[in-house]
Amino acid sequence: MTTRIHGSDSVALGLRDVFKIYREGDTETETVALRGVDLFMERGDVVALMGRSGAGKSTLLNLIGGMDTPSAGRVTVDGHDMGRLDEEGRAALRRRSVGFVFQDNNLLPYLSARENVALCAALAGAPDATGRADVLLAEVGLRERTAHRPDQLSGGERQRVGVACALAGAPAVILADEITGELDSATADRLVALVIELGRRAPAAVLLVTHNPEVAMRADRVLKIEDGALTPSSVGNTMTRATEMTL
Ligand code: ADP
Ligand code: MG
Repeated sequence: MTTRIHGSDSVALGLRDVFKIYREGDTETETVALRGVDLFMERGDVVALMGRSGAGKSTLLNLIGGMDTPSAGRVTVDGHDMGRLDEEGRAALRRRSVGFVFQDNNLLPYLSARENVALCAALAGAPDATGRADVLLAEVGLRERTAHRPDQLSGGERQRVGVACALAGAPAVILADEITGELDSATADRLVALVIELGRRAPAAVLLVTHNPEVAMRADRVLKIEDGALTPSSVGNTMTRATEMTL
């Protein structure tokens, strides 16, 4: 079990009644991508988000990352109200407080694993970026691979470098969007377990987008997004009942 910090400081992520409506140019066409989403996470919480293509998953992550702004409602990250920040402020909050793990981690090909992670750490404002990179690469099991460039690493190892990058600034929130798509199931399972373990230890709120029910079962809560609305998923309900029965 992780020790939770109580009080308002522990709210890593808050979405209250969030709507996102896309309007196509000057046409009448409107897409309601999110309709009244509420989501609260503390550091150390792990939530799996499931939902079919077009349901609003990327829109939700974009709002949390401050890449876009809601049409209505409030998004707070690490206690900061995104709506009160301009684009530059949102970018600064994103660098400091949000770690992204993507399927394609956009590692720089001519930099070593250590240099890639050190760059992430420096951008996130970590004081000793190279030292931080070495600690994180050891935590993701790549102590012996720090001098390797991305093309000298396997797909799973590159993903681990990406996880180290996401953690580099001690973020309040870690967003992982479909990170296992290109990996075989054993490698995928280890990667997800690693993100969850390091996220809990950091501690950071971990929001994992996945289509894989086995991945989702590793989370504390499973939420389903359907046509822009968030509901507890039956996977999560089953898991909760199963957990209660074993207690
Ligand atoms: P998901 O990631 O779950 O596949 P998205 O969040 O990408 O879903 O999309 C949700 C809905 O919003 C879809 O109907 C999509 O077509 C629409 N949408 C997403 N981004 C834009 C955009 N920039 N402009 C207009 N419509 C968009
Ligand atoms: Mg998407």
